[in-house]
Amino acid sequence: EGSELNLPQVPRPNVTKRSNSLPSTSPADEDSVVIEEKRRRVNGEGYTLHRYLRGRLLGKGGFAKVYLCTALDTNKAYAIKIVPKANLTKARARQKLQAEIKIHRTLKHKNVCEYKHFFEDRENCYILLELCHNQSMNEMIKRRKRLTEPEVRYFMNQLLESIKYLHDQLVIHRDLKLGNLFLDKHLNIKVGDLGLATKLESADEKRKTICGTPNYIAPEVIQGDRATRGHSFEVDIWSMGVIMFTCLVGKPPYEAKDVKATYQRILANEYKFPIDVPISNDAKDLIYCMLQSKPSDRPTLKEIGNHPFFTANSIPVALPSNATHVAPKTD
Ligand code: ADP
Repeated sequence: EGSELNLPQVPRPNVTKRSNSLPSTSPADEDSVVIEEKRRRVNGEGYTLHRYLRGRLLGKGGFAKVYLCTALDTNKAYAIKIVPKANLTKARARQKLQAEIKIHRTLKHKNVCEYKHFFEDRENCYILLELCHNQSMNEMIKRRKRLTEPEVRYFMNQLLESIKYLHDQLVIHRDLKLGNLFLDKHLNIKVGDLGLATKLESADEKRKTICGTPNYIAPEVIQGDRATRGHSFEVDIWSMGVIMFTCLVGKPPYEAKDVKATYQRILANEYKFPIDVPISNDAKDLIYCMLQSKPSDRPTLKEIGNHPFFTANSIPVALPSNATHVAPKTD
């Protein structure tokens, strides 16, 4: 049958309810199911069968649910993003997923959540991803309220590495936010959700589509054509500024009662550092530089890396695993 996604075609695999013979370890995987993939052999002759045990729900997105999953061939753990085809009836939604996969599958970097494999059956599309055990920085900030400067240096340095890589590949992420910065078991940042990413043909191409998440969206994206001739790599630098502010302060800089008010604050570039949170001048200056209304006024990634916030202080090489829940002891 016709898969409307222009992706590797596989015949309809069977999704089977878990049989009683499979091990049950916790009540959480009570509703586990085995997902079967019939993968066409490389030589085109016949298929190999691959089975995945779907475990607990890791998170929900706009179109997809993401579950823990074990490949039963290898016993390796992954995250599996399941997109019901019922959510892909509109051509735009299909194109979006197609674009996401097309970009994501070409990327490989230690701070980008790795794309592993795609397959589909009649009901769903399945994207196998590198498993990130520690949710996202959004949950971390909710629990911790805010992070210390050395922690922010650690995370911003990893974010910088990942964005350098993406921009080198001419990929603009366009939806950088705490909820898309996943954390692996060693608390390494893995940038994920390339659903709004775009790959330019050349570095001077501009994009016009409005996208992004209200709190983190750059002013030139809100304004569309009026002020600039489209947007480019600088939108990610803006979002890095919003991310850094949010990590240090505990809430995003342009937060307001609704989206309209947030956009107004972004366009007026209205944000303040709270007086009751101690933040170094280096940190404030770097945020100030990244949150420049005019895209060309924002620093390059190289300039960010050379900013005193990074160079005048040492960058932690690792964080203790309990950093997701508790602030480090100060001595
Ligand atoms: P959408 O594109 O529909 O917004 P996301 O890619 O943001 O979906 O994934 C939704 C949620 O699933 C995330 O917020 C996160 O909690 C979880 N998630 C996504 N990818 C992974 C992963 N590789 N490892 C662990 N959890 C993940």
